Amino acid sequence: MVDYIVVGLGLAGISFCEQLEKHQKSYVVIADDLQSSSKVAGGLYNPVILKRFTLPYKVHEQLEIALPFYQQLEKKLNSTFISYLSILRRFHSIEEQNLWFEASDRPGVGQYLFPKLLKNKNESVDAPFGFGRVLHTHHIDTKVLLASYQNFLEKGDKLRRETFDYNKITFENQGVCYDGSKALNIVFCEGFGVRKNPYFKYLPIKGTKGEYVFIKAPELKEEKAIKASIFCIPLGNDLYKIGANYDHHDKTFTPTEATKKSLIDKLKIFIKCDFEIVDQVAGIRPTVVDRKPIIGSSIEHERLHILNGLGSRGIIGAPLVAQQLFNHIERGTEIEGEININRFTAKYFKD
Ligand SMILES: Cc1cc2nc3c(=O)[nH]c(=O)nc-3n(C[C@H](O)[C@H](O)[C@H](O)COP(=O)(O)OP(=O)(O)OC[C@H]3O[C@@H](n4cnc5c(N)ncnc54)[C@H](O)[C@@H]3O)c2cc1C
Repeated sequence: MVDYIVVGLGLAGISFCEQLEKHQKSYVVIADDLQSSSKVAGGLYNPVILKRFTLPYKVHEQLEIALPFYQQLEKKLNSTFISYLSILRRFHSIEEQNLWFEASDRPGVGQYLFPKLLKNKNESVDAPFGFGRVLHTHHIDTKVLLASYQNFLEKGDKLRRETFDYNKITFENQGVCYDGSKALNIVFCEGFGVRKNPYFKYLPIKGTKGEYVFIKAPELKEEKAIKASIFCIPLGNDLYKIGANYDHHDKTFTPTEATKKSLIDKLKIFIKCDFEIVDQVAGIRPTVVDRKPIIGSSIEHERLHILNGLGSRGIIGAPLVAQQLFNHIERGTEIEGEININRFTAKYFKD
């Protein structure tokens, strides 16, 4: 008998496992690698929504624990996946510059926006209206993080690399049984895979596909991430990650020619040097209709729980919601309404 079974090992699963580690709970993770959003993520640790210069849900609270969380994890896993990365927002017009300065005067968001206009100094970049710089930004190499965490779990014999079969759950007085293994609780962290979960598939996790193309551009020599209508993220060795798009209709995990073309067209608006396309990846963000995470317990089976809906900001969001879910399960702490599963459950089970 273990305290927990965790299903799925993306940013949500890792963050919840770390709560279990911290509180010395026993657990096993059951995870396949078939559809990880975390693996293809841009890795941007970015506190600001760069479309309108606003802040995501509870960003101050998220940041307070997110960076220490990843720093401790780096130490524990003896791995390197955090790097400092400057993020520049390319302005399209004078009006946009003005919006930036207005935002940088506002309490809250102002602390994340450098209040001066930066001029473009890179001849391979076109940015006649200059840039704004976001403060407190980093890059998390999620691929390295995921591989290191899998390795850590495997060494402790805590990872079963398989697809969780929902038909194999049975409920007992003292807990839950899965395929012969007993646990007090199951926490589902399946990202968009939740749509196959009979206990939680009613939740409005719509999924938004995103793709990146990778380019090699030896003349570009840019060390900062530039956000125009899409991002150009430097990876080192003249490689850059270009994207991502937001597709609300296509629910497949394969990259498409149409998106490649559209990303390259958008790139050519602000990058003037030659480049070669070397790769392309796709993933589905677990997005929710109201753009907030979903955490909590099943109304029908109190030992089944969910941590999902991290949307396009799992890196800074996951550690805080994992802590809140753990406190809810173990200490009965109330989950705030805005991220509580009950905001959808009550309506679903009433109808
Ligand atoms: C193109 C793109 C770019 C992004 N860029 C950024 C970014 O720069 N910054 C940022 O903060 N966020 C970014 N995101 C969002 C971020 O990736 C997500 O918020 C986050 O990864 C979601 O994590 P998760 O653990 O909930 O889901 P996932 O990472 O999808 O993990 C779920 C895991 O569960 C497994 N699973 C599902 N069902 C089962 C089952 N039945 N049995 C076993 N295993 C199962 C899946 O295979 C997967 O490994 C991006 C996303 C995309 C797609």
